[in-house]
Amino acid sequence: MTDIIHLLPDSVANQIAAGEVILRPASAVKELLENAIDAGATEINLILKDAGKTLIHIVDNGSGMSESDARMSFERHATSKIKQANDLFAIRTLGFRGEALASIAAIAQVEMRTRRHDDELGTLVEVEGSKVKNQANCSCPAGTSIMVKNLFYNVPARRSFLKTETAELKHITDEFFRVALIYNDVRFTLHHNQKLLYQVLSSNRKQRIVSLFGSGYNERLVPVEHISEAISITGFIGKPEFARKSRGEQFFFVNGRFIRHPYLNHSIENAYRELIPVDSLPSYFIFIDTDPATIDINIHPTKTEVNFLDSKVIYAVIRSAVRQALGLSNLLDSINFDVERSFEYQSPGTEHPIKNPFDFPKSDFNPFEKTGPDKNPQGLPWEKPSIKGWENLYDNNNVQFDQPQKNDDLFGDISFPDDSAEKEKTNVFQFRNRFIISSIKSGLVLIDQQRAYERIVYEQYLDRINQSQQVVQQELFPCQVSFSLSDAELIDEIMAELNVLGFHLNKLGKNTFVVSGTPSGIEETDLQSLFESFLENYKKNLIELDLDKSTNLARSLAGSLSVRSARKLYTEEMGHLIDELFSCKVPDRTPDGRKIFAIIPEEQVNQWLNR
Ligand code: ADP
Ligand code: MG
Repeated sequence: MTDIIHLLPDSVANQIAAGEVILRPASAVKELLENAIDAGATEINLILKDAGKTLIHIVDNGSGMSESDARMSFERHATSKIKQANDLFAIRTLGFRGEALASIAAIAQVEMRTRRHDDELGTLVEVEGSKVKNQANCSCPAGTSIMVKNLFYNVPARRSFLKTETAELKHITDEFFRVALIYNDVRFTLHHNQKLLYQVLSSNRKQRIVSLFGSGYNERLVPVEHISEAISITGFIGKPEFARKSRGEQFFFVNGRFIRHPYLNHSIENAYRELIPVDSLPSYFIFIDTDPATIDINIHPTKTEVNFLDSKVIYAVIRSAVRQALGLSNLLDSINFDVERSFEYQSPGTEHPIKNPFDFPKSDFNPFEKTGPDKNPQGLPWEKPSIKGWENLYDNNNVQFDQPQKNDDLFGDISFPDDSAEKEKTNVFQFRNRFIISSIKSGLVLIDQQRAYERIVYEQYLDRINQSQQVVQQELFPCQVSFSLSDAELIDEIMAELNVLGFHLNKLGKNTFVVSGTPSGIEETDLQSLFESFLENYKKNLIELDLDKSTNLARSLAGSLSVRSARKLYTEEMGHLIDELFSCKVPDRTPDGRKIFAIIPEEQVNQWLNR
């Protein structure tokens, strides 16, 4: 028997390799754009016909190639970018596999014109299905121009898999954006079927985003920055109110390369949790720069996947940087929040402490306690909480609150503070038992009472569960609650956490429990309906969200309790509620992302009154 193994001819090997690297016109565009960037181009023009199926033409003013390099560039594994295996761990260029041109030339008709800036004559190379058809000197501008015609002309199966022109063009613009976003000092144009679709000049990063995605982005973006020796994370994130239901502009770049990274994407979505509705997605443009030795980009031919040496640390750093940016943008943008410099925290991995305006010490205010004006839940006189930042919102010198007559018809539903109220809190009042209005430096703040309760209770319960600190009050008359069998099982499952929260339940029968204690502050007479609504929330969250047990519990309970919170508040209670709200970690959104307060700027008030 004769031997049967033989080496494949280059043209076949290249075609097989092309199957991995060049999946559609957009993949060829990506490779060619990257080559132009690697060649140091400052201007790149991309011209397409029929979404790249008939023609992809890319012209750059980069380094250009010598005659023999021009010829060599079409060989498989021919590259100028790495020499030895070790170089793989120090990659600063976009290409390095030496596969792209060989692959493209295996499945298309390619015409390359290239000239180095110091050479007088350039080189023309024509290749078709891996075969060199022509090589000659030519006169051409410095840089490189590559025309790729009739992609997949010799792989009909692949060609027939291509989608509609609109879909393929979308893939191409996606690739174009990914490169144009990082290389903001490079000028780009994109023409399709002789129409100019994009033209961007050299600009800063924010301007580049705005010029690609539209001027609306100017006000939507918040800068993110975390710079340490090991890693730098910069870029922009979308303000929560602009989050959309579709997976919109989400970009990670590592060392100048667009990557997909579901795990890091999760870190950002996690940072936005509670700031945006559950079914919305944030937009982000995050640029990570790190030592190439700490990443592995060689895991897939298209190089959009990256392994980090320590992705957990990067996860934490990104999450913290994003939360930092969000915290600052939400409040500081809208309120003149004079926070003292002493509130600082160290984000993981930073040498420089970052100011966190919301990291206040906690007090144990319980908003569900019905207390008189001079009693707190423990029956002691009110003590001002040890939270200082919030008071700075007030401009006591400017606000003179003249107390009108209580029966003044003009003021209908607005309830005014008691005469006995503490003087400095008198610029707070309640409206329809649902809203609290207060004067702040920049105007007025309008707080949704129920939502504020929900946020405060949620954070308190979460703290309690996490620190396992029980605050129980014994029920005078233990009461009985019954559930469906499956709900009773659910209660069994979360019994330990319920206990920590302060619910003391004992099982009576299969689906009946005796409640002998509730968390301090719950003045609930109808425990059956409280449990039912709580379980309903809990189950809903279980199905729709990926929450851990404690978060879900705190959130569901806070939701059920807040519904019962509409009532008249005394001035001190309002003041206390405001203090508590602004000492929350996320004071401006409910756990499921609804807005808690709105600011009415003083200028607006002036405008309304034509002042
Ligand atoms: P890689 O980019 O992985 O090195 P390619 O097949 O994409 O492999 O390109 C092969 C080589 O051809 C590159 O290493 C580079 O030296 C050269 N080259 C390709 N495109 C250009 C260009 N636009 N300008 C200058 N040189 C280029
Ligand atoms: Mg390349």
